[in-house]
Amino acid sequence: MTRVPTAPLLQWDDRSGPYRAAPHPTTAILDHALATLAADAADLLTSAEAARLTACGSVPCNRFLLRHGRRHWCSTRCGDRARAARAYARRTRPEHE
Ligand SMILES: [Zn+2]
Repeated sequence: MTRVPTAPLLQWDDRSGPYRAAPHPTTAILDHALATLAADAADLLTSAEAARLTACGSVPCNRFLLRHGRRHWCSTRCGDRARAARAYARRTRPEHE
């Protein structure tokens, strides 16, 4: 966010006078996109929605999600992996437990 100012700068042209222009060249599109993502993340972290932010419950996934109801995984793939791991653990559990 700090690398890419969001306000267009005030600049001067000798023929036409003052004008506003974005402070980044078009070659800095990646920086601008990342700054937009960072600003969105900062908006999320400072909003009421932040309370719903939770880590994905499927090891070894390191993503986060906004919890909806009983959802614990960031994706269907992670949910399937967690359910498969649970089923495998049930099948391979020793009889005496
Ligand atoms: Zn996940």
